[in-house]
Amino acid sequence: MRLILLGPPGAGKGTQAKMLKEKFQIPQISTGDILRQAVKDNTELGAKAKTVMDAGQLVPDNIVIGLIKERIRQGDCKTGFILDGFPRNITQAKKLSETLQDMNLAIDNVIDLEVDEGEVVERLTGRSTCPECGAMFHQVSRPPKVNEVCDSCGGKLEQRPDDNKETIEKRLKVYSESTAPLKEFYSKQESLRTVEAKGTVEEIFSRVCLMIE
Ligand code: ADP
Ligand code: ZN
Repeated sequence: MRLILLGPPGAGKGTQAKMLKEKFQIPQISTGDILRQAVKDNTELGAKAKTVMDAGQLVPDNIVIGLIKERIRQGDCKTGFILDGFPRNITQAKKLSETLQDMNLAIDNVIDLEVDEGEVVERLTGRSTCPECGAMFHQVSRPPKVNEVCDSCGGKLEQRPDDNKETIEKRLKVYSESTAPLKEFYSKQESLRTVEAKGTVEEIFSRVCLMIE
């Protein structure tokens, strides 16, 4: 099964993608995670991506398209994958369609996680992640048992450098200008399903699963 998760920053794409990965045993492909890893590893790609990401802008299309092309050709993607954070504009979406067509594959479901802007800002400003295991926490809605420590593995929690008020606003603007138009694109091309991304993580997950099965 090949899925795309759409939605603004903070909609919970990463959280839902991780749960879908477990349930369906297919890889989660997050361009954001790949880019952040490259920044951490100090690679050439990371150096190119860092300033753009810290400013809340999109990394150039040719870079992310190259990453995706390489990733979906890997063996573990044979049974499917979950795209989280890609595509982010119409050019990326068109390139993805072309690439899949060349491989004789297609996207089965596009899930749009809908949540309003005020809620998104609140979620992003309070969130932290465990760099060791990827678990996510939130000051208000999902606080760790011990401050700044991961419940699952004891790792020291981190805040993303782009989760500050100014950059969040920029990311939301980029979302509405470049990414939101994908809803129309996919409602014409493939099956776009809208899921209300409010409530608990589990509630949202069961709504997502209903759309798939
Ligand atoms: P969020 O959805 O919470 O903003 P992501 O982890 O998906 O977070 O992305 C973080 C940053 O990585 C983006 O603001 C952007 O700079 C870069 N990025 C991720 N995916 C893409 C993409 N498909 N195209 C361009 N830039 C991307
Ligand atoms: Zn952890």
